[in-house]
Amino acid sequence: MDKQTLRKEYLEIRKNILDKDIKSKLIFNKIVNTKEYRQCKTIALYKSLDSEVNTDELIDYSLSVGKIVLLPKVIDNDLVFYKITKETILIKSAFGVYEPIEENNYNGNIDLIIVPGVCFDKNNNRLGFGKGYYDRYLSNNSIKKIGICFKEQLLDNIPTDINDMKMDLIITD
Ligand code: ADP
Ligand code: MG
Repeated sequence: MDKQTLRKEYLEIRKNILDKDIKSKLIFNKIVNTKEYRQCKTIALYKSLDSEVNTDELIDYSLSVGKIVLLPKVIDNDLVFYKITKETILIKSAFGVYEPIEENNYNGNIDLIIVPGVCFDKNNNRLGFGKGYYDRYLSNNSIKKIGICFKEQLLDNIPTDINDMKMDLIITD
């Protein structure tokens, strides 16, 4: 199956997954217990859409334990990460994604990134929204990458091409 067909199918599947809050909580618990999370000083996260694994608790918790927390913003087709605080205001972008206001552009080291996806496979491959944002961003650095998704989004095998960046680890409920 080609990527575009798979994307359509799994966006629909993702939309209809039940008990997302409970499942997101399970995923949160697993993330914070990884060595990668416990050891990281700086973490890049995403602010979840309704259909995605909810990251609100992870964002709040990470701030409360003193990690440097970054959220992305799409600028000219690239992901740019900004440092946030509890006070940071997030604004809905044209794509419906909540993004931080451009205040604290972050140029330091990032230890860990939590990556959303439409689906993942058992070889740590990822299918995204189809714009290649994360592929392009991750091709330029060597951050530890944890993909998160609900069990329903984990497949045996998804098609990949040369630009697709593999995750180091995938966490599901
Ligand atoms: P997604 O990863 O969002 O599911 P794709 O993998 O289909 O999307 O990538 C979308 C487009 O972005 C493709 O045309 C892909 O070749 C391009 N792309 C991804 N990474 C890079 C890169 N590092 N350099 C140039 N083009 C890239
Ligand atoms: Mg890709």
